[in-house]
Amino acid sequence: MQLRTQTRKAIKIVSFDVDGTLVSQGFADCVWLRGIPEAYAEKEGLDFEQAFEFVTSEYEKIGENRIEWYKIDYWLRKFGLELPYEKLFKKYEGEIRIYDDVESVLEVLKEEGYELVISSNAATEFIDFQIRAIRKFFSHVFSATSDFGEVKKSNGFYARICEILDVKPQAVVHTGDHWVFDFINPRKIGITAYYLDRNRSGSEKVKVKKEEDEFVISDFNGLLDVFVR
Ligand SMILES: [Mg+2]
Repeated sequence: MQLRTQTRKAIKIVSFDVDGTLVSQGFADCVWLRGIPEAYAEKEGLDFEQAFEFVTSEYEKIGENRIEWYKIDYWLRKFGLELPYEKLFKKYEGEIRIYDDVESVLEVLKEEGYELVISSNAATEFIDFQIRAIRKFFSHVFSATSDFGEVKKSNGFYARICEILDVKPQAVVHTGDHWVFDFINPRKIGITAYYLDRNRSGSEKVKVKKEEDEFVISDFNGLLDVFVR
């Protein structure tokens, strides 16, 4: 599990995904699947189920491969809602859940001298609102959709981050919970990636090749094994 000393010495940046990695999906789901349909129901005088059907079918028409999918202002405008997204966020603030194992690990990594950054697919306003309690640990927040107009975290996305941070990919470790966007793609350019599988002990365990197994962790404490212990 532990990186070879040489590799470890070269690491300067530790990068993290957000949804499913630092925070649970609950808040975002509430905004998209409860807040927006509810507001639409109220405006149109529909019951929630009807509004939910309509709103989600409109989401599907756009689909996650188009940039609009990620832009909350686009949707609020599209549904004719005069609700500012800040108000909607505030309503579901209580649903934000930073995973229990996150803060203590960030603290240790920071103390060890690593620069911590966020590399997420979510729109900046979603990231900022959800990570307020741990924002102080990060020097940069990169959003593929808001900052680079990309809908997926490609190897190009990671290359741009290295460029902006002025480091070689070999100086970066990235951790996230999506097999392709957080593991396969950063590895393509030489970033050391860790796949976070919080269900590893459960039934949804992913199948990985033997040589990849040491790069799969089941919680944040797994990162301490890599860097510190
Ligand atoms: Mg994720």
